[in-house]
Parts: sequence; C-alpha cells; structure tokens
Amino acid sequence: MRSIRDALASMMPAFQPLGVERLPLALALGRFLAAAVPAREDSPAFDNSAMDGYAVRAGELLGASPAHPVALALHGESRAGGPELASLPPGAAMRIFTGARMPPGADAVVMQEDVRAEGGEVEFRRSPARGEQVRLRASDVAAGAVLLPARSLLGPGEVGLLAAQGLSTVTVHRRPRVAILGTGDELRDLHEPARPGSIVNSNAYALAAQVQQAGGEPVVLPNVGDELEATVRALEGALDCDLVLTCGGVSVGAYDLVKQAFARVGVEADFWKVNIKPGKPLTFGRRGKTPVVGLPGNPVSAMVTFEVLVRPGLRALLGDPRPYRRRMPAVLAVEHRHETGRVELARATVAMRDGALLATPLALQGSGSLPSMVGVDALLVLDEKREAFRAGEVVPAFLLRDETGSEGSPWEG
Ligand code: AMP
Ligand code: MG
Repeated sequence: MRSIRDALASMMPAFQPLGVERLPLALALGRFLAAAVPAREDSPAFDNSAMDGYAVRAGELLGASPAHPVALALHGESRAGGPELASLPPGAAMRIFTGARMPPGADAVVMQEDVRAEGGEVEFRRSPARGEQVRLRASDVAAGAVLLPARSLLGPGEVGLLAAQGLSTVTVHRRPRVAILGTGDELRDLHEPARPGSIVNSNAYALAAQVQQAGGEPVVLPNVGDELEATVRALEGALDCDLVLTCGGVSVGAYDLVKQAFARVGVEADFWKVNIKPGKPLTFGRRGKTPVVGLPGNPVSAMVTFEVLVRPGLRALLGDPRPYRRRMPAVLAVEHRHETGRVELARATVAMRDGALLATPLALQGSGSLPSMVGVDALLVLDEKREAFRAGEVVPAFLLRDETGSEGSPWEG
C-alpha cells in the first residue's frame, strides 16, 4: 500500500502550469501571471498631498508653536485632478486636497486641523518636517521596475494595482479543463427517470463543484456503464481535456474495468492502494502530457481522494506556486476513535477557541455517507497506528475554506 506522500510525489511531476492566454483584467481574478509585469509608469505619477491641508515650504515654518505661531499668505488652491501649477511664491501657503498635485517649491503639507485660516492668512502653530504628508512621485513603484513577479496570484489587490497602471489585459496561465467520467451500470443522470436499483451519478456533480472551487473548468461527460468499449470511447473523447478524472470501477470487483480501459487508450497507469481513508483504490497515469486519474466510486472516497491527491495537481496546472493546502494544528473537541491500518481524513467542523482551532469530527464518517461531506470545514489527519484520540489532543488539519497555499507537500517530513 502506498503512502499518501509517495502517491502525491509520483503524481505531482505530471502537473505543470498550462499554456497562457490574454484576458481582460476584469476576468483575471484567481489566475496566475504567466510572466513578470513591469511597471509602465511611476506611481504616484506626480508628487501629491496625502491630506487635506496647506502646502508649504517647511523651512519657512521653523520654530512655529502655539506660543509663537507663524502666518503665511494664502495663495490659491490645488485640487485632485487639477492642472499643473506654477511655483509656490515665498512666504505663501497653498490650500491643497488629498491626491492633489504639490505646487513646485512646496515640500510639506500641514493638515487643516492644525492651522487657523482667516482673511487671506494662514496661521501655523507647529513646524512640519520636510516631506510631511507628501506622497512623492515613484515612491510606490518606479516605471520599469517589477510590478508583479511571474506566477503572482491575481487577487483584488493585484487587480487594482494592474488597473492603476492602465493595464487593461493580462497574460495568465490557462484554467485546466477537467473531464469527469462516471462509470457503473447503476448510474443514471440527474435528469433521467429512475430505473430499479439505479442511483444518480452524484459524484459528477460533487467533483465538478470541487474542480470549479479549485479554479478548474469541469467538463462533465455522460456516464458509462461497466462496459469496456463504451468506457474506451468515452475516454478517447475525454483526452483532449487537460486532466481526466474517472470515478468508480477501480476496485477489484468483476466489473471494475477502468484500468483496462486506460490501457486501451494508451494511458500507462499504475494501480495503487493508497493509505487513505476514505479512499484506497486509485489509478494514475498519463497519455502524452495529459494526467488521468481513476478515483474510487464511493462518493466520500471520491471527494476526499480528489481533495488530497488531485487538487494540488489541479492548482499546479493553473500555475499556482503554492499548490498544496497548509497543515494547521487543531485541537480535538471530543474523543475520536477509528480503525487502525489507514490514515484517516476525518471530516470536521472547526471554530476558534482561546486562539486555537477547535475541531469537532462529524458523527457520520462512512465512505459512502454523503452527509459526512456536508458542512465540512476541515479534514483531520489521524494516524494509522493509533485507535483512539483524546479530546484536547492536537492533530494536523487541512482547512477546506482556507485559500492560503503551501509551496511544499504537507506530507513530506
Ligand atoms: P465502485 O468503485 O465502482 O465499486 O463503486 C463503489 C460505490 O460507489 C458503489 O456503491 C457505487 O454505486 C458508488 N458509485 C460509483 N460511482 C458513483 C457515482 N458516479 N456517483 C455516486 N455513486 C457512485
Ligand atoms: Mg462500479
């Protein structure tokens, strides 16, 4: 039986960032930059005020204090979006607003709360430092410098920064198109009438949702029965996607034909029993550059196996330099027991208590019980050698709603 660590280590090299595409900035959220983006222009593009107040020459207010205020003549105003200005005459202060250009000659802004302005004169009761409340040209970014390095995740801040530079399009890695193929004579589609003994191909919906949440584009194929030729044909059609997922038919039952079908379409696949519960049977291979994964059919097994073994690969295809989830310490709220022999990924809810994550495993933990995937915040990693875990014990957890990635596999070391 393979460890999760070894299975993941064998799979990950097959997942390299996909090719690139140019997108309108407004559609690029969640993507990764294909190349570094240099700054087009200085930011700020001109010296401007950080406050509403008065632009002055700091040197003219040396020694100003409540006991010895210094008065300057009020000379015009500078407002945000206003034109370029003539120099500030000596002995004068200019009314200025946040984001407005500094008049040449001025080198500080005194906020309006600190002055008294009356009858064409402005009285200062303190002496500002040079540069006070001034945002200097290029102090954030200089033209030509790296604005964002390659593989940057485009979040709201990055999107704003690119927009501020006037960049309306951006080159990012493509999103993986992920084929999802359910196998099994018992399966019917959601919209098909029920036959005796049939079940809905719910995995297709659950896996499509997981793919979508991970940033991929699901391509759900019509399910196939436990029939080799039909499975081969469906796989042939699926292989133009960037990643192919099947579910079901990877166990040792008489109708488990997925591995044979993989061989027929030229996928050299390994059949593994992975030390994971729920989960265990898994087939992995590639045809050309396309990775192909045969997930187990049990609904919870399929989803947990996807989460632990496929999601990191999907993130890597998307260009994510931190494709893994972080391992976080969580405190068990209640005692938990399990069968030894496999690493259990127990589904749990979490809350913060006294600055720590408190995890409560759900009551249902069966690999076929879909309710055990409802309302799940975290997967808890429970050692295969131990049977009982005490309340208050710290166990590793993966937070399923935490988007902060990790560069290295959380299963190493
Ligand atoms: P298998 O791996 O094909 O032996 O399937 C294991 C269990 O998962 C069986 O109870 C199947 O009926 C069920 N199962 C297989 N595929 C799906 C699917 N796509 N959606 C829901 N349940 C499934
Ligand atoms: Mg089956």
